[in-house]
Amino acid sequence: MSNIKYLWTPPPVASLPIRGKEERLPVNRMFFVGRNYHAHAAEMGKSVDKSVEKPFYFTKSLHTLVQSGQTIHYPPKTTNFHFEMELVVVIGHHGFQVAPEKAHSLIYGYACGLDMTRRDLQLSAREQSRPWDLGKDVEETSICSEVVPMPEKVIEDASISLTVNGQTKQNSNVSKLIWNIREIIADLSLHYHLEPGDLIYTGTPEGVGPVVPGDKLHGEVGGVGSISLTIGEPKKA
Ligand code: MN
Repeated sequence: MSNIKYLWTPPPVASLPIRGKEERLPVNRMFFVGRNYHAHAAEMGKSVDKSVEKPFYFTKSLHTLVQSGQTIHYPPKTTNFHFEMELVVVIGHHGFQVAPEKAHSLIYGYACGLDMTRRDLQLSAREQSRPWDLGKDVEETSICSEVVPMPEKVIEDASISLTVNGQTKQNSNVSKLIWNIREIIADLSLHYHLEPGDLIYTGTPEGVGPVVPGDKLHGEVGGVGSISLTIGEPKKA
């Protein structure tokens, strides 16, 4: 189909399974909302005043994407590797400068996500006013479940929870999002041209904490599904 020759084999298309479909969903970009639950912002030592603040975002490269159910390596250069359980919005249509009232038209569906974080490196970057990449854009740290098609559905109320080795660590509700699904899509679309296959991790509630090799994580979003992850040993050189 193409005469283009590459010096080496290009990377494979990043993709996720879709519930009830044989086709996989090709992933385009991954956006993450920072501090989007008040109780989590507070535990991170920052409060959010929606009346004067805008939401903020960071991105992770596709190299960080891992499908639910896998074992990941404990990453290098950290001693404080944290879980963050999140609801993921899956974009299915192009959108730019979308009004909140129209934001639902971009939604393909939802997934459960884990935004695993080298917290020590993120916080030292934050203190030095440096980018968060070393804390956040970490290989094998964007975990995502199967995608659940829910076209144009705006989730306003859903439980969100995470257990580690069977112990509840996070337990909240998507209704507590500071910027809700419509507002996030609309605001993000002011900054970026949203495209099919974009994932938006909407932020984590309170209760984040460290994991160690051997830990088993299980998260759920009511009405969407579940996600699981095992923390393995560090990768050998
Ligand atoms: Mn997060």
